[in-house]
Amino acid sequence: MKTELLSCTDDLTGSIDRAAALIRQGEVVAIPTETVYGLGADGLNPIATGKIYEAKGRPSDNPLILHIADRSQLEMIAETNHPMLEALISAFWPGPLTLVLPKKEVVPPTSTGGLDTVAVRMPKHAIALEIIRKAGVPIAAPSANTSGKPSPTQAKHVAEDLSGRIAAIVDAGPCTVGVESTVLDLTQEIPVVLRPGGVTSDQIEAVIGTLGNTNADISKHSPGTRYRHYCPNAEVVIINQSSDFDTALFEIKKVAWIGAHPPRGAKKVFELTTAEDYAREIFNALRICDAGGIEIIVVEEISDAGIGAAVMDRLRRAAGKI
Ligand code: AMP
Ligand code: MG
Repeated sequence: MKTELLSCTDDLTGSIDRAAALIRQGEVVAIPTETVYGLGADGLNPIATGKIYEAKGRPSDNPLILHIADRSQLEMIAETNHPMLEALISAFWPGPLTLVLPKKEVVPPTSTGGLDTVAVRMPKHAIALEIIRKAGVPIAAPSANTSGKPSPTQAKHVAEDLSGRIAAIVDAGPCTVGVESTVLDLTQEIPVVLRPGGVTSDQIEAVIGTLGNTNADISKHSPGTRYRHYCPNAEVVIINQSSDFDTALFEIKKVAWIGAHPPRGAKKVFELTTAEDYAREIFNALRICDAGGIEIIVVEEISDAGIGAAVMDRLRRAAGKI
């Protein structure tokens, strides 16, 4: 299959219309969001969502997030009687918060990994919202990468992994957040974070009070956390401070360095300081390292505060530490 590249600078309306038409026809299209690029298809059409799993090589029990553009689509696919739902929606939608709710009949089990719940999000990206509106259906969209690889934050990352395997890629430039949405389980009285992401736990607690504990049982509730994720070809090593690292390794291996205190001698350096910088750049850095044949990627650890929690979650998984 030839993958169409739909530019948003040359012909914005034409690109949005084409993407929406392909999705209505049951095809798979990579779309930009504020978090990462998503691999979108009609979330209510099992044949279409089957193509997402096939293109990514995604295990079929790993459920999809359905992306919506307005409130009526939420009512169509999910039960909306949780007492904290309205406060969460008004505080964080559109935005990088995914809510897990009891699903309605119309949502096929193929979109939810067989669960009786559905994950829903309203993205904060004008082009994504317009594509969803024009497609007229909730769009199922996991990250648009080959399963297990670092998530795509630019259209070219999608092309690296999926060119020839999907109908089209909508290019709207780099993503502004850079890590995926926070997944919040609203199927119990006290909500629980299943995956840290673009909205921080502190921000959520400021709106609805104390969250439940994310316990060891998490993989039962959030199948996506069972699988290896975000892994470049190179080995990822997380260090607490640069002095912990023996620079003699620079002589033996091709080493890249990510962080605020790079020592001399690394083949490639990504000077990142704030948690927001890490979030925006980390997946791109991992991919650049792979393209350059880097063997070891050393990353300076950052605090788990704020969006740092999502960044460190991704890095620990990339390092095989979770
Ligand atoms: P991705 O779209 O690849 O970033 O991953 C979606 C994430 O949402 C995975 O961690 C899934 O386990 C999680 N998820 C999607 N649907 C559900 C659901 N119904 N219940 C719990 N977690 C879900
Ligand atoms: Mg993913």
